[in-house]
Amino acid sequence: MRKLAAAAIMALASPAGAADRDLLRVIVIDVEGGAATLYVTPGGRSLLVDTGWPANMGGPPGQPGPSSADRIIATARAEGLRRIDYLMVSHYHVDHVGGAAELLGKFPVGTVIDHGPNRERPEPGKGPGPSAPATLYPRYLAAIGARPHRVMRPGNRLDVDGLVVTALDSDGAVPARPQPGAGAPGTDCDKATPNAQLGGEENPRSLGFVASWGKARLLSLADTTWEMEAKLVCPRDLIGPVDLMLADNHGSANSNNPVLIATVRPTAAAIANGATKGADPSTYATLTAQGSAVWQVHFATRSPSANAPEPQIANPQGQDARYPLRIGVSRGGSVTLTNPRNGFSITYPKRGL
Ligand SMILES: [Zn+2]
Repeated sequence: MRKLAAAAIMALASPAGAADRDLLRVIVIDVEGGAATLYVTPGGRSLLVDTGWPANMGGPPGQPGPSSADRIIATARAEGLRRIDYLMVSHYHVDHVGGAAELLGKFPVGTVIDHGPNRERPEPGKGPGPSAPATLYPRYLAAIGARPHRVMRPGNRLDVDGLVVTALDSDGAVPARPQPGAGAPGTDCDKATPNAQLGGEENPRSLGFVASWGKARLLSLADTTWEMEAKLVCPRDLIGPVDLMLADNHGSANSNNPVLIATVRPTAAAIANGATKGADPSTYATLTAQGSAVWQVHFATRSPSANAPEPQIANPQGQDARYPLRIGVSRGGSVTLTNPRNGFSITYPKRGL
């Protein structure tokens, strides 16, 4: 630990140099089991993926703390941003789109991106509840107002100051062609097992992407489901290997299909889980079986024996100071994960080098 502390001090003392100009910053914001990840380029351009919960949800009962939108705004300001250039909403579940209206009302946002119309309808004969996609989607559209609003289909691209985002699955469809360098048969496709759990029609409609930053490749599939994950790598791999994966669906067991993980083999995986949501033991086992380093936003209290090492957990057991995970991605493909709670940091070189 002494060595790590010294490294942290050196990092603080070094002036902004070539290394900093090389680094894409990725901040997995703690929105208590929701999703909100901010990407910031060295030039100060930004992409936010998802907005966490509405103000009255997402915290411990009776003490929710700052809203997800306020946590996002505080993070953006700390990164020196005066606006978020692109907001991508992966799908219309409350833990992803819930903070959008508040955020759009409080902080400058440029272009808004999603998978198109909400597909999750209330059960026949029932009205939508207050947190249902059918309730949240029109509210979200109203909040977008006159801002540019773009739908990304599989294969569509977005260039954020050199961070090249390519849509993979969107609205339940997958790309017709593999990414450059991909296209080989997926790993273990013959061992694939079924899992029909959707968790709502919007999950398999999630807008997922692979992004390149120089030689680095990052995978973010939001709450993409097991069967959709299989379609992305079986029978042929449409994605290719990745250096960083944001674990799907908060690390829950009904996503993170072993055929996906075995095919893309992330060097490091960050799990945006809550204390009692996601980061399931099967996901932890699937990732570690591929040699992926696992970092978590929260200790998973339901499965104490299947957690990342404590230094790699932003908010450990019994503590929630709302720490994020911070990730630096170099153009060469190395990925540095840092836990702001303790300064613990590990740099993972690109695999195969
Ligand atoms: Zn979710």
